[in-house]
Amino acid sequence: MSLDYVKFSNGFEKFMPKEYRDMVEHGPFGKKISVSQMGSFKEVLEEHPMCAGCAMTLFIRLAMIAFPNPEDTITVGTAGCGRLAISQAAIPFVYGNYGDQNGVASGLSRGLRLRFGDKPKDVVVMAGDGGTADIGFQQVLHSWFRKERFTTIMLDNEVYGNTGGQESGMTNRGAVLKMAPLGKKFEKMDMVQMAKVAGCAYVATVVPNNPRRVESVIKKAVLIAREVGSAYIQAYTSCNIEYAIPTDKVMEDAKTVENDRYAFSEYISDEAKQYLTERYGYKEFLPKPAAPAGAIPGKA
Ligand code: SF4
Repeated sequence: MSLDYVKFSNGFEKFMPKEYRDMVEHGPFGKKISVSQMGSFKEVLEEHPMCAGCAMTLFIRLAMIAFPNPEDTITVGTAGCGRLAISQAAIPFVYGNYGDQNGVASGLSRGLRLRFGDKPKDVVVMAGDGGTADIGFQQVLHSWFRKERFTTIMLDNEVYGNTGGQESGMTNRGAVLKMAPLGKKFEKMDMVQMAKVAGCAYVATVVPNNPRRVESVIKKAVLIAREVGSAYIQAYTSCNIEYAIPTDKVMEDAKTVENDRYAFSEYISDEAKQYLTERYGYKEFLPKPAAPAGAIPGKA
């Protein structure tokens, strides 16, 4: 939870495992790293036991590169495929009981603020659609209503992949799954709308096949959650096993789904826009300069 925890104690460097030395010497701690530099530094998440081609792992990997201060970040998760990878990363991970991740994150985030004052210690929840929209729904929604200052990321694979293919609230109507052979009878939950209604300061939907966009979304969400209020990101992270997507077609599927029903969307409250502009120099939210009179059709 700080750069200090990755430093070597004097004289111990040569006795540490190579993986550890690589992380200290070539990892992202204390540096400004971008997804465009992937392959040139040691990532906090490299190995994981998830299925080959799982889109969720790519998304988690990109998200962790995008954390503004990985050395000052704690992730919180729950049961599901995602935690198999998240728990392998070289940053602290808290594994809650099923569905209580936003309750755990609320306490953690408040405790860190009390303990460290103004020093940013980011809390990021990463949980699947079952943990976020079904079993953890109550705690998720209440954390948003309370405007808890941490980021919630839903890894939306639209199924309970980890337990063999039951439908979740985020499964699309009509979808037939191994453990939902008659097809889902209800619509996919509109968690994006609920996040807005509950007062989140930042809400975005994204797919993993545009790394720069994932990076931009994660950075904004974490920075906004530091001081302004709750942030919610809903990421389409397909389950190639339960939806029978060939491994080499996973990114193609993500592109198709993005064009069809998972278009990129971003909502930022006015307060959050002002904060990003003034504190972090985001120019995109500055008022556009008025066009010269001659450039306006019909004006002299
Ligand atoms: S079951 Fe699905 S979501 Fe889980 S690791 Fe495998 S492909 Fe990914």
